[in-house]
Amino acid sequence: TAPLLQVEDLFVEFHTRDGIAKVLNGVSYHVEAGETLAVLGESGSGKSVTAQTIMGIIDMPPGVIAGGSIKFHGEELLTASDRRRREVRGSGIAMIFQDALSALNPVFTVGFQIEEQLRVRRGMSRKDARKRAVELLDLVKIPNAKGRVRQYPHEFSGGMRQRAMIAMSLALDPEMLIADEPTTALDVTVQAQIMDLLKEIQVERNMGLILITHDLGVVAEVADRIAVMYAGRIVEQSDALSLYRKPGHPYTKGLLESLPRLDQRGQELMTIKGLPPSLLKIPTGCPFHPRCTMAQDVCKTDVPPQHRLMPGRMSACHFAEELISE
Ligand code: SF4
Ligand code: MG
Repeated sequence: TAPLLQVEDLFVEFHTRDGIAKVLNGVSYHVEAGETLAVLGESGSGKSVTAQTIMGIIDMPPGVIAGGSIKFHGEELLTASDRRRREVRGSGIAMIFQDALSALNPVFTVGFQIEEQLRVRRGMSRKDARKRAVELLDLVKIPNAKGRVRQYPHEFSGGMRQRAMIAMSLALDPEMLIADEPTTALDVTVQAQIMDLLKEIQVERNMGLILITHDLGVVAEVADRIAVMYAGRIVEQSDALSLYRKPGHPYTKGLLESLPRLDQRGQELMTIKGLPPSLLKIPTGCPFHPRCTMAQDVCKTDVPPQHRLMPGRMSACHFAEELISE
């Protein structure tokens, strides 16, 4: 049977006054029901654009889908009608964002925003929708859901707003949830609580979950697999355990070395020098070569192919085998 979600060889460009920004350059990943894929990368690596393309919320123009495929239960979404795309949004695949305050409408109560979806998309009565909204706020562990449902987003704390947004995203029982930096704006304790909540809901509902993050630390305990993105490509894809044990790409290695570790307190953290490239002018060969401490001459000229290191594990580095056998 087809995977729940399959993205294949996706190319997306943004046509700007300064030229063509190649934001996605052949991205492939898949997510099964009950599975958590973490998509990791610095800002501008293409992780959010991939998600927005899956959701069908890229502005076109300036965005152009230059190639590839996105299949949900085997159904191609890129060529589906607008009507079909709208059906899939929310009830097939839902998405939550970093900034709950901008995703929630400030002039309506939290309850109303959940209920509206249920009335419009499910034809529920006002009373049933209210009942369901309270259940959903309960589900995301918002205390006093019955009272909270009547409150406005600004009356919620940051963490509670994030929970409310999760409740809203679950209203139509999606099979797949995409969370784009859902905890970045929160303090560390609340971050962990939200991650635990997402994981719990995902397991209970056997949902597919994509967690987009720039922080390998945040997803360590919840990700089954990890896809690392750089300059609009996936440079490493692996089960989480193998990746944390032995990264198969110098970029992943750099990201891991820049994580604070409890057992190495006081030691200076390695950080990857330099900045990600402009997508208007991606370096030749391996796009990571200007920042890579392992770079050789071949890296400047030849784009590294995807090396299959073991089943389910690949790396786009000329020296991937050496790296994991070190
Ligand atoms: Fe570094 Fe070369 Fe590997 Fe790219 S291909 S990550 S530049 S060693
Ligand atoms: Mg982003």
